[in-house]
Amino acid sequence: MRRMRVMKFGGTSVGVPSNFEIATGLVTARTALRPVVVVSALAGVTNRLVEYARDPAARAPLSEALIERHLGFTVDVGLAAACVAEELERWRRLHAGWDAQRHPLGPEDRDRVLSFGERWSAAIFAAGLASRGVAAKAVDAGEAGLVTDEVFGAAHPLPESGERLRRTLTDLPGVPVVTGFLGRTLDGRPTTLGRGGSDYSAALIGAALGADEIQIWTDTNGLLSADPRIVPEARAVPRLSFAEASELATFGARVLHPKTLLPAMERGIPVRVLNTASPEDPGSLITAEAAPSEAPWRVKSIAGKKGITAVTVASSRMLLAHGFLARVFEIFGRHRVVVDLVTTSEVSISVTVDDEDRLAAAVAELEGVGRVEVRKGLAIVAVVGDGAPQRVGLAGHLFTLIGGVGVGVEMISQGASRVNLSFVVREEDADRVVRLLHRGLGLDVEQAAPAAAPRS
Ligand code: ADP
Ligand code: ASP
Ligand code: MG
Repeated sequence: MRRMRVMKFGGTSVGVPSNFEIATGLVTARTALRPVVVVSALAGVTNRLVEYARDPAARAPLSEALIERHLGFTVDVGLAAACVAEELERWRRLHAGWDAQRHPLGPEDRDRVLSFGERWSAAIFAAGLASRGVAAKAVDAGEAGLVTDEVFGAAHPLPESGERLRRTLTDLPGVPVVTGFLGRTLDGRPTTLGRGGSDYSAALIGAALGADEIQIWTDTNGLLSADPRIVPEARAVPRLSFAEASELATFGARVLHPKTLLPAMERGIPVRVLNTASPEDPGSLITAEAAPSEAPWRVKSIAGKKGITAVTVASSRMLLAHGFLARVFEIFGRHRVVVDLVTTSEVSISVTVDDEDRLAAAVAELEGVGRVEVRKGLAIVAVVGDGAPQRVGLAGHLFTLIGGVGVGVEMISQGASRVNLSFVVREEDADRVVRLLHRGLGLDVEQAAPAAAPRS
């Protein structure tokens, strides 16, 4: 198969004029690598569309503002407004119907609303490439074959997506500029893959096409040692394994959607996280194996995820009861409650979940199994690095630091994975704990770490 490259540009990369210029320039300079571009909506647009779907009173002004934003943006980047006119016209027609409804839109209509963000952006980006003399075509991922189930708002791609995407995108003349975040049901209704899902789209497309690299162009110098909004001195981590990056994404490193690494991992395709505003920067390279280093740099990054609820099910008969754990997980599974951390004692099991929507029904059923306690307002902090859980003294060091500032640890999960040591604290303590550990584990100072491999 011929080489090709996926280049995904996030909201600030496409929605800030100076970055847009850099992004289209980067693609133009790489046409020989057969790029397939994946774009997010312009920065802030999806949030506005979410608001539009939710609040009937805000629909008319929001519609005006969104049209204005996209027309204004095309002018700012020196393009003719005509490039997005057709998509804006489609929006105006549908807006008339939505504006007449005096209630929040249901999940299916909401996804149709959200789909415009990426469609507008793809149209503008394709025009940006064309203005540089590069033949390009805006493509709706759903129309191109990214078919999903009907879970609107958090749709799952169907197995046939890969083959369909490959057929449509492989010999398309010019550079495809594909909408991130979007899919389509088998009967053609738009779906979305979950907030932040454009990264996942990029990986699905890269896997389908057998890309040699999946590049995630964003607004930080790679995957950093912590969220820079919490730890301003956070540094880029040059090399990570799929396992390390997956754990970080799952436990709050928003720079990558949690599902992004799965398709890449299955096909062994390297993922690189890069900064559009600083394209010469090497960024972070994520591969099956993090490069071995002479001085093991084991703890690489710390992630935090708020909005966590812990559920404890206690039963004095647990020890004797065969299948207690199976029953508990069967109930969570049936109610589609996703469980993150699990700890057990002889008489109880505690789990954390991050989606309260379906929890009430599961808890009602769990009450038939044992005594149930639900604690809200928690956060998971994950300390990630290959071998971290096994590293002698690390856990002791961590908990001494945390105890030293009087923060209580509610749950600890260590050793289930080779790369992640995670624990639960109260939500209001989470940022403080991340900052404390970042400093306490020496992540704020330059470390001997292998350089990222050269890139093209
Ligand atoms: P994009 O629009 O490019 O998809 P996102 O806003 O989704 O960008 O993700 C990038 C943001 O993720 C960063 O600006 C940063 O605030 C946040 N973030 C959280 N944890 C990390 C981390 N470990 N490394 C880099 N960024 C992180
Ligand atoms: N535009 C979508 C969102 O804001 C998808 C993405 O940015 O990845 O969630
Ligand atoms: Mg994102």
